[in-house]
Amino acid sequence: MNKSVQEKICEISKKLLTYGLNHGATGNVSVRIDDDFYITPSGIATEFIDPKDIVKCSLLIDEVEVHRMTKRPSSEWHFHQKIYQTRADINAIVHTHSPYASAISVLRKNIPAFHYMIALFGGPEVRCSAYKIFGSYELSEEIIKTLGTFKACLIANHGAVVVSDDLDNAFCLAQELEHLAHQYVELLKIGSVTTLSDDEMRQVLLKFKSYGPTSKDQD
Ligand code: 13P
Ligand code: ZN
Repeated sequence: MNKSVQEKICEISKKLLTYGLNHGATGNVSVRIDDDFYITPSGIATEFIDPKDIVKCSLLIDEVEVHRMTKRPSSEWHFHQKIYQTRADINAIVHTHSPYASAISVLRKNIPAFHYMIALFGGPEVRCSAYKIFGSYELSEEIIKTLGTFKACLIANHGAVVVSDDLDNAFCLAQELEHLAHQYVELLKIGSVTTLSDDEMRQVLLKFKSYGPTSKDQD
């Protein structure tokens, strides 16, 4: 039987714990369906959430409505809402406080093209936003600016956001981002990093367009 969206969000949230990409109540997950998005609740340790805790929000929800709700959506509903409103290609969002991505966010550094897999996120680097307090509308504006058309960005002194058309894929991207962030932190300890040129990254980006199973293979 197909899982409900609420069950799927719980499953992925717990998988983020299992893989060490989040801990306690950190991070949040959402999925867009039509004119609504479904999002993890605020401040409940992921270990204890279950499908009935997932909050349904209209894409047009505002502060007043959120304050009236008995079940509070994630404090980061602003940036989830703004990403869905701005990016028609995105239907799933994963926010993590994964250790290495968060460490680089404290350095306020972009992750450069030190490895070809950076192109998986849609560009020649994974950029880091400016700092704004968690849960603010201002943070959502910074995230939108930094993300652009890409699939991930770091949030200064905080963590990372990964976006995709589908939740399983968003999880895989979050895992890949943390893996790359780990490598990059190790490289920073050693010293200089050799990065791919803009042209080399353009070629990788092009190659990714025809990489993986075709829709025929998935039948
Ligand atoms: P929420 O529990 O409100 O989603 O907060 C966790 C978090 O990561 C805030 O940035
Ligand atoms: Zn956070």
